[in-house]
Amino acid sequence: MTWLVQPSLVNEPFSDPGLFIDFRFGRRALLFDLGDLTPLPPRQLLRVSHALVSHTHMDHFAGFDRLLRICLHRTTPLHLIGPAEFADRVEHKLRAYSLNLLDEQSFDFMIRVTEFDGDGFIRICEFRAREALRRRDMPLIRLIPGTLLDEEDFRIVGVVLDHGIPCLAFAFEEKLRVNVWSEGLKRLKLPVGPWLNEAKRAVRRGEPDDGHIAISGELSLPLGLLKQHALRTARGQKIAYVVDASYHQQNIDRIVALARGADQLFIETAFLDVDAQIAAEKRHLTARQAGDLAKRAGVVRLVPFHFSARYRDQEDKLRSEAEEAFRA
Ligand SMILES: [Zn+2]
Repeated sequence: MTWLVQPSLVNEPFSDPGLFIDFRFGRRALLFDLGDLTPLPPRQLLRVSHALVSHTHMDHFAGFDRLLRICLHRTTPLHLIGPAEFADRVEHKLRAYSLNLLDEQSFDFMIRVTEFDGDGFIRICEFRAREALRRRDMPLIRLIPGTLLDEEDFRIVGVVLDHGIPCLAFAFEEKLRVNVWSEGLKRLKLPVGPWLNEAKRAVRRGEPDDGHIAISGELSLPLGLLKQHALRTARGQKIAYVVDASYHQQNIDRIVALARGADQLFIETAFLDVDAQIAAEKRHLTARQAGDLAKRAGVVRLVPFHFSARYRDQEDKLRSEAEEAFRA
């Protein structure tokens, strides 16, 4: 089975947090958080269709400028999703620049900003290069509650955590993984081709087994036969991303529900538990707390990151404390 996406941290764990989610097929990527993006070359940033920002503390948002700089001359839109008041923050960023060179002749680049309150969207607005990135408020759309993005292959769900200010946490959920079994294809003497994508789509949509899939020319076969011999399905992959949160009951419940059963949980591990008091004051998690959350959520793999710089020489301690709580 091949993964739909490949997630990787943008920076080493003492630097700004951020997760680059690269699609294995097709030129597309997603970003969770916009801290320092220096390690990502332009060709990778140009693939970003959606950037989801947990909150606008600098270490999570300062990379917006670089992303804008790279994307300003492309024609595909850049979607930004963040917590309440996020659109104002984006607008302030844009207003900081002299944009007199943008006019109707510019590339038709557009930024679409959506604010999410844990249930649904509370504001949507657009900034078009041809309108000198002036703000234009758009009508709200409604998805299933708690959903940020819903596409054919995957959805992204989110919760609001308390970090003194609202801080979003995200989970990428592949809907149903459908892979081609090449041995089966050979046995049925079927060619590889675009029809396979159609067949996969039909499986994901739950279409009936007696429905026919057009393969080539006159040839079409029932979906049920293809499912039996040429396609393999499995639960899709789930990747959860949790940063900056106080360790209290409401946050705990929300994090555990969001990360439930994730293949990978990327979670902030800011402090050692011996400094739990400082962590509480700064509304961050300790390594032990992060490990405990991962255990409660039953995740497969815990990836600790977003380490406080004070532990530069104690990285092993942060990792082992989180791992011990996870394995306990
Ligand atoms: Zn942070």
